[in-house]
Parts: sequence; C-alpha cells; structure tokens
Amino acid sequence: MSVARCGCKENRPLTAGRSCCSCNLNSQKITKDSFKVPAPPASRPLTTKVNFSDNKEQVTTTESQVKNEDKKKSWSLSDFDLGRPLGKGKFGNVYLAREKESHYVVALKVLFKSQILDSEIEHQVRREVEIQCRLRHPNILRMYGYFHDEKRIYLILEYAKHGSLYKLLKERERFDEKTVAIYIRDLCKALVYCHTKKVIHRDIKPENLLVGHNWELKIADFGWSVHSPSSRRMTLCGTLDYLSPEMVEGKPHSYAVDIWSLGVLCYELLVGIPPFDAKDSHQTYKKIRYVIIKYPDFVSEKARDLMGKLLVINPDQRLPLSHVLQHPWITENAPEGVVPPAFNAEKK
Ligand code: AMP
Repeated sequence: MSVARCGCKENRPLTAGRSCCSCNLNSQKITKDSFKVPAPPASRPLTTKVNFSDNKEQVTTTESQVKNEDKKKSWSLSDFDLGRPLGKGKFGNVYLAREKESHYVVALKVLFKSQILDSEIEHQVRREVEIQCRLRHPNILRMYGYFHDEKRIYLILEYAKHGSLYKLLKERERFDEKTVAIYIRDLCKALVYCHTKKVIHRDIKPENLLVGHNWELKIADFGWSVHSPSSRRMTLCGTLDYLSPEMVEGKPHSYAVDIWSLGVLCYELLVGIPPFDAKDSHQTYKKIRYVIIKYPDFVSEKARDLMGKLLVINPDQRLPLSHVLQHPWITENAPEGVVPPAFNAEKK
C-alpha cells in the first residue's frame, strides 16, 4: 500500500489524510482584505556587521553602526542588495541579502501573500513573526524584522551558512554519537529558553533546524509554536513522525511535546530514519501510541537510555530538559565549545 505524502519540501506521510506540517490545519478562513501583518518592532537591532566578499564572513560591531540602526524604524526592499537563492520553501523563496548601509548579511525570506491566504496559514505566519522576533538565543535563528509590499511579506532572518540540518543528514545518512549529543544538548538549551519564555515550539525536526557558520544548530521556523501562558493546547499540529502520543490521541498537550520530539530527533540523527517510521500512517500512529521502538545494534546503551527517558507515553514522566543536560550520554559526548566531529574536516 502506498503512503500518501505531503507535497511540501518535507515529503513526509500525511496525518490522516491532512496536511503534514507547515500546511493548513485548524486555520480559520480569512479574506484578502483581512490580511494584516503585526506592527514592526521599535528598532532594527542589526548590531553585527558581516562582510561577505569571497563568502568569508567577518563579524564586527561598531557603536556608530548601532546608533545608525536605532535611528531607522522600518525596512523596505530597497534597503537590501539581493544575492543568490538559499532555498525554496512551500510559500516562497529564501535569498542571501546584504543590508546596503551596514553590509550586514542576512537571509531574506520572501512569502507571497496570495499563497499564504490560499493555504489559510495567515495565523501561522503572524505567530511565527510575533514569537521569533522576540527570542534571543545562540541556538535560535534570529528574526531581525520584517516588512511587506502589496504582494509579498519579507522576513529578515539571520543567515545560517550551512543551511538545513535535514539536507546535511540526507547527505551523510546519519551522524556519529558525539555530533548528535552536541546537537541535542544545544537544542535542549534552546528549548529551556523557549519554555522559560512560555513558548512551545511543537515542530522540532531536522527540516526546521539550520546550521550556522561554526556548525552550530539554530532552531528556525516557529510556524507551529504557541505562546502558552497557562492553557494546555489541543490543536493537532506538526509532522506525523514527530507527534507525541498525546497529540496523536487529540489530548491536551503542553511543554512536554518538545521533550518527546527531542527524543525522536535524537533517534533520527543517530539512525537516519525516525523511530516510528512505517509503511503507512496507521502503522506510525500505532507505533507512537505504544512507543514501539527498535534500536539498531550500533546505537550505544547510554544513547538508548536517554531516548527511552524522553520517549515516554506519560508527558509528566518524560525526563525534564534540565536533567537531559546532566545525562551521562550528553556530559560524556558533548564537551562545550567544540565543533561537532561530523564537520571537523569540513572547510569553513
Ligand atoms: P523555508 O522556506 O524556511 O523552509 O526555507 C527553505 C530552505 O531555504 C531551507 O531548507 C534552507 O536550505 C534555506 N534557508 C532558509 N532560511 C535560511 C537561513 N536563514 N539561512 C540559510 N538558509 C536558509
């Protein structure tokens, strides 16, 4: 039996015939006239200058630059020189760009309003902008600002030199344990930060992780994230492979869904395929609900121990993120300040 897959870049199995991920679940119908983007942030905090001649990036900050930036309050396309395309998403393209005044290099994500409206994801884009603009963490992709014209929305993003983790994983099939431990540790720190800001990401997976200049991980794409001051959410969202049992069963869910997806990610990075991968979505559901996991022989005992403590049916019994950072598999494999071994030999 062939598995229905989403037509988006991820090509993952569809969730019970519905869209897989960055698509149109639970959205309200809106009209073109109702389209609004949130008010721009008060300042433009581009405080780091990057020189990208010859593709060599050099990071410097000057006081006058900071002052100049504070003067300007809003952006337009004429502020940027556009460079090569960095990638193609479902709703638009991402380009390398350079701010004309500061020469600061960014990634400019260009979204078409008509496609956003047709796919009924206006609320997702709005949420992504509102949340991502306010987060500041070395392992979270910065969104410096945004602007729009009649047809498009432009998101001004931190440039992640090595692109998507998904692409790197497909090139290498799987990563060694030290590389994965470093990425899980960094992701864990970024999620601790998100959770203290009361943000649940809800869609952690390789496609939503980018890799920066020093091979560091950056969470991108907050399209499915929620700001959750108190309530426990019931929305079904995210990619099937990464959905937690409580989400699969349509139960209320909270911060622990990100702990579950950390476990799924750890497995996929180590093994090359997600743990609940199956020939059809029904089988994947079943595997998730009963947490049926098979570890290949090459996965170490300590890695299995950590994943076993993250992939727990009861969300309240999943290992808290602060304990993940203390787990022996992390402390022994992920020393601070080193480049993940998988990329040691790569040219910067
Ligand atoms: P997206 O539409 O966000 O899924 O992006 C499509 C592709 O563009 C990604 O898979 C990346 O390869 C690339 N891309 C997106 N954002 C960035 C960024 N900030 N820096 C570098 N590449 C990016």
